[in-house]
Amino acid sequence: MNRKTCFITKYQYGDFIVDLDEYVLSLATNCMFGCEYCYLKFSKITLEPVIYENLDKFEQEVTSLFSNSTQKVFYFNFGETTDSFLTAKHFNIITDAANIISQQAKKYDKSCFVELRTKTNNIFYFNKKICFENVKLIYATSLSPQVVIDRFEHGTVPIKNRIETLIFAEKLGFLTGLRLEPIIIYPIYGIEYKDVVFSVKNLIDNYQQILKTVLEKIDFKNIHSITISCLRLTKKQFKELKQKKSKLCFFEMFLCPDGKYRYSRPIRTTIYNGIIDFIRWTYPVLYKKILLSFEFDYIWRNCGLEIKSMVEVSSMVG
Ligand code: SF4
Repeated sequence: MNRKTCFITKYQYGDFIVDLDEYVLSLATNCMFGCEYCYLKFSKITLEPVIYENLDKFEQEVTSLFSNSTQKVFYFNFGETTDSFLTAKHFNIITDAANIISQQAKKYDKSCFVELRTKTNNIFYFNKKICFENVKLIYATSLSPQVVIDRFEHGTVPIKNRIETLIFAEKLGFLTGLRLEPIIIYPIYGIEYKDVVFSVKNLIDNYQQILKTVLEKIDFKNIHSITISCLRLTKKQFKELKQKKSKLCFFEMFLCPDGKYRYSRPIRTTIYNGIIDFIRWTYPVLYKKILLSFEFDYIWRNCGLEIKSMVEVSSMVG
């Protein structure tokens, strides 16, 4: 199928949200997995995955972007409109697109980073070393407690496998991205206000344990970034999920200035600080690689984090 609209769009973060300076690559759309919070399920699209074939148009867009910008470093995200490693066809488009970006990046003297985000273990079938001039590929996977995967991410692989894929990706030459998102408070069924503190503490312990396991196994110098973000739902998602009595709809979720529902500010900052402080004191070298995704600048400040974009983090890495 040919893509008629743009392949490359500047990420729109929403009002008052910190801009991470990413471009979305829409080389494919849709995904057949059943993540209950996935915004694709609420868009007017079929669930059948679609891969776009008219890469000549993509090349024109890359050329136009590079030739019209003085920016030296670009961050592309090919995990926003699909799971990046969903099918063998996704593998082909990753390499074809990386080749196109690489050729144009050399011509216009740019340095590019492409995030490939997945909840599969399909990289085990990828089995070729990757190396592109002026382009680094980032293998990013969501690290969630198994209870959350079981309950809300149907069809995706367990946390144990996700960690194994990170180790494998490193061997193939990918940088790695640790994605602690979406952070979901669970279980919530039957809990009352007084139990929230316990649930949040339990959640922080779970994430600390996951980080410990991962960071014993992968090389710090290959880690591009660690992003952290609590669950966010659009108004439409929140309304529909609430009607369906989804356990995602926690009673301490509020409408934020960007029109999305999130956990209350004290809950989010407690969670973020619990994870950030753990990284800061246990793995200080990784502290500068932490970003909050889709958060307000006052939340970054509450967590003591210096505001930075993906482009700025990329410049530190490579
Ligand atoms: S794996 Fe990603 S794209 Fe697929 S359903 Fe889950 S969140 Fe959506």
